[in-house]
Amino acid sequence: MEEDQTNIVVFPFMAQGHIIPFLALALHLESKLRRLPNLTITFLNTPLNIAKLRSSLPPSTALRLVELPFRPSDHGLPPDADNTNALPYPLVARLLHASTSLRGPFRDLLLGLVAGGRKPLCVIADIFFGWTATVCRELGIFHAVFSGASGFGLACYYSLWVNLPHRKKPDAVEFSLPDFQEGSPVHVSQLPLTILEADGTDEWSVFQASNLSAWADSNGILFNTVAEFDGVGLSYFRRKLGVEVWPVGPVLLSEKNRRSTTPSRPDGASPEQCTAWLDTKPPKSVLYVSFGSMNTLTAPHMMELATALESSGRDFLWVVRPPVGHDINAEFDAGAWLPEGFERRTAGRGLLVERWAPQAEILAHGAVAAFLTHCGWNSVLEALSNGVPLLGWPMAAEQFFNASLLEGGGVGACLEVARGRSGEVRAEALREKIETAMGETESGREMRRRAREARDMIQSALRDDAGAGAAARGSSVRALDEFIDTAMSAVAESRNGPKISNGDASIPREQI
Ligand code: UDP
Repeated sequence: MEEDQTNIVVFPFMAQGHIIPFLALALHLESKLRRLPNLTITFLNTPLNIAKLRSSLPPSTALRLVELPFRPSDHGLPPDADNTNALPYPLVARLLHASTSLRGPFRDLLLGLVAGGRKPLCVIADIFFGWTATVCRELGIFHAVFSGASGFGLACYYSLWVNLPHRKKPDAVEFSLPDFQEGSPVHVSQLPLTILEADGTDEWSVFQASNLSAWADSNGILFNTVAEFDGVGLSYFRRKLGVEVWPVGPVLLSEKNRRSTTPSRPDGASPEQCTAWLDTKPPKSVLYVSFGSMNTLTAPHMMELATALESSGRDFLWVVRPPVGHDINAEFDAGAWLPEGFERRTAGRGLLVERWAPQAEILAHGAVAAFLTHCGWNSVLEALSNGVPLLGWPMAAEQFFNASLLEGGGVGACLEVARGRSGEVRAEALREKIETAMGETESGREMRRRAREARDMIQSALRDDAGAGAAARGSSVRALDEFIDTAMSAVAESRNGPKISNGDASIPREQI
């Protein structure tokens, strides 16, 4: 790295759920690191993803969008499929394997930067791009993995992959994580499908074996989380990999940038429509119901939820998607998906929004009392940043573990399904949970108090009073400073001779 310029390379996997948090991180770095000379943030991806970003992102002085050559059809994928959003689930593993072909172009790009006197200060890459750590180690470039998942969720996920405990006890319904007791026990129904089906030889197992072991080549992990709330999972990575861990969150997209990166959903409600409806409601009176950008309910669960919302007597704003088994773009069919007369009977106190709602704005509105959520980490961060307590209905990925974290932190109440005891959700149990979160019960008051505490804690973590002493700066601000300082020291060291070392990173490869 030359003295008069700073280049940070960021590189997400080709999926909207990865590109969006990386973009949030890139824009966060741009706004927080203005002190660095001539800051450039090089955002790498494949041509179609870069083209989409280029056409939609507001202009930025620091962000440079750079393509790495990649042709999906060379890997047996449809020609326009360089993003998981364009792929059916079984082909996601193929895209993961195909993404390792970016290794050569990535290495060439770094070599070109070094040769041109623009050696990057650091590379920040996806949890699926472990090989980038190996390339960076070889070239003496500081490297960090960036996780858009919680520390706790990612620790459970990592531990499950490296131990595959359910393979060792095929008949058990519950097992412990040998290296992460804090995440135990895990019920078989809480396992992500890819892990449940993993036998060590399938496409996912083969990919993860080399991907996760390569993390040990990285200098550390940046997390979109807050140390005070999520410390247990962060500790796991310090002791397991011997790397540094920097919790720098929440890093969230502003509404302006969010609109430019999310798919246009003409049938979704505009922020103005939702806000106008919420404006008519008393403070802390509305339950917001949404299950993220991908998940949807089964048809029977949709009926149970509608019944629970109706019998709760509470106001609600529900983002409704076609149930499992229907095309996501299917015509909205309340008559088939909801109990007969539901919309008429709940008119005035319920707002149904089709497919997509302006979630960040809704959660920031004072009329929202609680959030019934699938526990996607972005949704959790958005809710807690506004002091909104959560009702957890996890469905996939590491959402079950996020739900445990929320319950443990006292800011959420989870459905039994979160503990894996049953796949079923019944209207009456749901109504009771809604009452807990919104009603004047002892536990409800406590949960709301804890959610407000979490909001204050997040605000403290993000406090950035540059003039004040280190103690007056928030933990997430300090973590970002530490990350940059560590990268700069590593660069200075590498100029003076030996290659960058990440200390005692020792995950035995044969263990994976
Ligand atoms: N989101 C939104 N409107 C919707 C559904 C989702 O704005 O109707 C946004 C939400 O605010 C969050 C992201 O999409 O930023 C979902 O991310 P999360 O990690 O919660 O779940 P995922 O979609 O990855 O399962």
